[in-house]
Amino acid sequence: MLIVMHHQATDPQIKQVKRTVEAMGLRAEPIPGSMRTAIGVLDNQGYVDDSAIRELPGVREVIHVSKPYKLVSRDFHPQSTVIEVAGVKIGDGQPRVMMAGPCSIESETQMLTAARQVKAAGGHILRGGAFKPRTGPHSFQGLGVDGLKFLSAAGREVGLPVVTEVMRIEQLDIVCQHADMLQIGARNMQNFDLLKEVGKLRHPVLLKRGMSATLEEFLAAAEYIVAEGNSSLVLCERGIRTFEKATRNTLDLSVVALIRSMSHLPIIVDPSHATGKRPLVPIMARAALMAGAHGLMVEMHPEPDKALCDGAQSLDPQMFAHLMQNLKKIEKFITTLDGLENA
Ligand code: PEP
Ligand code: MN
Repeated sequence: MLIVMHHQATDPQIKQVKRTVEAMGLRAEPIPGSMRTAIGVLDNQGYVDDSAIRELPGVREVIHVSKPYKLVSRDFHPQSTVIEVAGVKIGDGQPRVMMAGPCSIESETQMLTAARQVKAAGGHILRGGAFKPRTGPHSFQGLGVDGLKFLSAAGREVGLPVVTEVMRIEQLDIVCQHADMLQIGARNMQNFDLLKEVGKLRHPVLLKRGMSATLEEFLAAAEYIVAEGNSSLVLCERGIRTFEKATRNTLDLSVVALIRSMSHLPIIVDPSHATGKRPLVPIMARAALMAGAHGLMVEMHPEPDKALCDGAQSLDPQMFAHLMQNLKKIEKFITTLDGLENA
């Protein structure tokens, strides 16, 4: 439920509404806006009788929201949120952000080499997986804590913040010690206990869309994190399972535009996992920016053909540098286009 106050509503009136809601056993969260304040009502399990609220001074209207997500929606929070990861801003009005690096951290040297290549090409955030959610138990499972150390050292060395996946609650402490941003992978998008724990932290989070998740389920998963108090959250479309076998997944670009209109959170695209095919990655990266993505996550390996994980979709350093050059031009083009449309 959303309570919209009159624009001249006073502070005591807002407080009275908050007290009334709380007396009903519910949580009230004032959301100040540029024109008027709204008050989000949380923790209700079903329909709430609003008669006691409607009559209060200063209340303009009461909107019943039946969606499973509220805090992440623009109904509750009309202004776009900008997330900051160790000085790198992600969101509306910011330069598009490139997160790049190998799928898995394989050695100190591989990670440092990749870090230098990402930095030299103009990437903003370094990625690398230490805990890997592999489909089969016989595949490389990641270097674990050693990998985290190589990643954070490489990030420090070149001056880039780092993002890495966390799969279990027990890994949170150590991952937070080494990473600037926590990645929740597609396979854990509905690991609700993990989402809740991550929500209690203040570390920025990158939440990837589950491969079979609808948009509503994706936003409801994001809601778990924000509802616990952590609104430093970036969403990531990484392709969904469809009947199509020609690509690893099907990149759902419409969802980028939809999320931009439905949610105030930034949304980025991972064209590597979405396509599974190296030659397609730069093309879909461009498409993602044109669709409105606030950034990208791309796999890049110093020697993709020797990669222990996802080599076929990893760019080599030359391709990555070329993509970065191209993206800068596309970004300029988009800015011009937006200017023309708004003129
Ligand atoms: C990854 O980023 O390496 C990864 C495993 O991605 P996803 O969770 O999207 O499959
Ligand atoms: Mn991967």
